[in-house]
Parts: sequence; structure tokens; C-alpha cells
Amino acid sequence: MKRSTRVAVVGGGIGGLTAAIALRMAGFEVVVLERAAELEEIGAGLLLAANAQKALGKLGLAEAVGNLGTPASAGEIRSWRGEVLASIPASEIERRVGAESAAVHRADLQALLLRELGEEPLRLGFEVQGFEQDGAGVTVLLAGGSEERVDLLVGADGLRSKIRARLFGPAAPRYAGYTAWRAVAKSGQDLLAWGSGFESWGRGQRFGCAHIGKGRVYWFATRNAPERGKDGGPGGARATLLTLFREWHRPVPELIEATAREAIRRDDLYDREPLVGRWGQGRITLLGDAAHPMTPNLGQGACQAIEDAVVLARCLREPDEAGRESIPDALRRYERLRAARTAKIVKQSRRIGRIGQLENPLLCRLRDRALAMIPSNVQLKQVEEVVGHEV
Ligand SMILES: Cc1cc2nc3c(=O)[nH]c(=O)nc-3n(C[C@H](O)[C@H](O)[C@H](O)COP(=O)(O)OP(=O)(O)OC[C@H]3O[C@@H](n4cnc5c(N)ncnc54)[C@H](O)[C@@H]3O)c2cc1C
Repeated sequence: MKRSTRVAVVGGGIGGLTAAIALRMAGFEVVVLERAAELEEIGAGLLLAANAQKALGKLGLAEAVGNLGTPASAGEIRSWRGEVLASIPASEIERRVGAESAAVHRADLQALLLRELGEEPLRLGFEVQGFEQDGAGVTVLLAGGSEERVDLLVGADGLRSKIRARLFGPAAPRYAGYTAWRAVAKSGQDLLAWGSGFESWGRGQRFGCAHIGKGRVYWFATRNAPERGKDGGPGGARATLLTLFREWHRPVPELIEATAREAIRRDDLYDREPLVGRWGQGRITLLGDAAHPMTPNLGQGACQAIEDAVVLARCLREPDEAGRESIPDALRRYERLRAARTAKIVKQSRRIGRIGQLENPLLCRLRDRALAMIPSNVQLKQVEEVVGHEV
């Protein structure tokens, strides 16, 4: 691929920013077209599992990202009363896969990626409305009528991707049947012993938390609910959650209590059936949530976007075996390399969500008992398949 190749990345989320960094490192000229006038700082944490850290290592960013937050603690699942149902020590995962996982604040990660990319390639307030492609390149059509001519286009424009809709039709994503609240408790460190993050499962609802550095604790909560529900009343989400989780083990209600009301964000959760065959067409491809949105039950959405970014840049940089690969061929090769892994994780995340969100009391009791009986080597093997991967 000639190095004067110009790439447009649509979307400046974690996937788009990482792709832009990887492509620029590979020698391409990159422009990131982001519709927001300012990049939103989501007040939540993010688990970057060992597979993402390994991929970030290929960009020279693993150490800096690791220093942003804390090493992730044990993968521990508890009942709503607090009994440990399953526990995989982080040290054991690290020993098996050869890298640490990190728990970070999203805003810190975004700031680091922005610093690494620099301001020049980022165009804020550029909303992509469509594209036209011909044999020589792609014309990106922007709101307001302007255009950008590039050699190839990467749609990293998230769950409701316009690029994906133009390529594969406007199908809506699939609502998972439950909603999630997320927040960072700035004064939560005394409530959660260092290194003791957990996820607890109840009936139709779950709660998880972890340290993310600088004394901050990230927590999330889920609840089966109709789509597009709202937290009414003067207490908003905080009051709703204090009611829903009042009887749960320490420090669940205490962490909610310690969080400012306006710091709590609510999002319905979605995924899509994996695309079969290809993610793109000609000089256009997809990346991250635009390609494979998944429920967050494995904490892998951003991790997979980061893996995509590294593989995409590599496919475009490396010639094929004959040494003469066209841009469309390189993009199809990228998609082939990524499709099976991401499809498997989408499906696994969906399955875990179904089990975790069970509501029937008898099924929940059976689930908890079954979970406690899974031998730790089997649990470890399952985790290793996801987080031990190296792109
Ligand atoms: C509750 C919850 C918890 C999660 N926890 C984790 C976790 O612990 N670990 C993990 O790895 N993942 C996690 N995820 C998933 C992760 O957040 C996503 O997979 C990841 O952020 C997707 O990044 P992205 O860049 O592909 O898309 P996005 O972050 O959605 O970025 C898309 C960008 O494109 C822009 N855009 C959209 N349309 C246009 C347009 N037409 N023109 C220009 N710009 C446009 C948007 O403004 C946005 O900035 C979680 C998700 C949720 C909901």
C-alpha cells in the first residue's frame, strides 16, 4: 500500500482514536471526522483486559494506559448477599496470559489517546452523512454540504453507525432487555478494600465495582427494564438505585449513597447479530461498535475495538504474499481476521447477560449453585480464551 494513502476514520470514540493512532504509526495520512463539537467525557470506568493491553502494547501505549488506573482485581462473582460464587485471582490470569488487565477512567483513556494522536488529524463538529465511492477513492459527504476525498474510509461511528446503515441497511440494534447505570464515586475508596472489585448477581439485576485509580471507584448496576425507561422523581437514578439495591451486601448501597446524583448515567444495552461474510464494501470498512456492538457482560467492547485497530493498520501496512494487495483486498483480509473472534464474543456476552439477568427465584438459585460448582480450571480456560488473545 502506498504511504501517501489518505484514510478517513468516522468517529472519535476509543475505536476511532486508536485506529487513527495505529494507521498514522503505519505511515498513513489520517483524518478523524467526529460529529460532536467536543468529545464527551463519559464519567465511568472501563476494564481494559489483557488482550487490549497487549494490543495497546503494539502501539507503545500499554505502560502509559496501565499507569492511568489500577491493575484489575480478581474476577469475582458474588450473590446479592455477598457469598463468593466464583473467583479467579488476577495474578493467576496474568500468569497464564502474560499481561495485566487495567481498570481505568474513560476520560483518562480518551485524554491519553487524544494526546498521542495530536490535534491536527481530529475534525470536531464534522458529521458524516454518507459517502460515494469509485475505483479511485471515496468521497465522504458531510453535513452542511462539504466533502472530503480519501483513499479509504473506516466507519468507527458506534452502535447506530450511519456507515453501517448505508452499507447493510438501517436495521435497529437489538435491545438486550436490561438497562445499565454507571458512575464514578470520587470518595468511594474507603468503602471498597483495595483489589477487591466484584460483580454481584441478584434477581434481574446486577452490581459491579472496581478501583480505577486516584481514589476513585467505578461502579455499574443493571436491571431488567422496558427500553427507553427513565428515572423519574426528585431523587432521579440515585433514588431508584438505592431502592433497588437497598438490601444488597456491603458496600453496594454505600457506594450508591457515596455518589453524586448527577454523576450517574443510564444507558439501555444493545447488540447486533454478527455480520456474516464481510463488514465493508470496496474501500470502506467498519470498526468497533459499528462493526460488532456487544453487551458489556465480558467488558470487551472497547477491547475488541482496540484489537480491530491494530489488525486493520497491520493489514493495510503489510503487503499480501504476492506483494500487490489492493485497498479493498487488504480491508477484506482485516475483516476475515476479525470476524470469527468478535462474533464469538458478541454471542458469549449475550449468553452471560441472559444468565446474569435471570429473574425467576428458582432459576436464580440453580444458577448460583451451578456457578459455585464450576471448577476453577474450567473458569480460567474460558477467561483465557477471551483475554489471552494476542493480535
Ligand atoms: C455500561 C457499559 C459498560 C461497558 N464496559 C466496558 C468495559 O469495561 N470494557 C470494554 O472494553 N468495553 C466496555 N463497554 C463497551 C465500550 O464502551 C464500547 O464498545 C466502546 O466504547 C465502543 O467504541 P467505538 O469507538 O467503537 O464507538 P463509540 O464510543 O460509540 O464512538 C463512536 C463515535 O462516533 C461518533 N459518530 C457517530 N455518528 C457519527 C457521524 N455520522 N459522523 C461523525 N461522527 C459520528 C460519535 O459521536 C462517537 O464519538 C461498555 C459499554 C457499556 C454501555
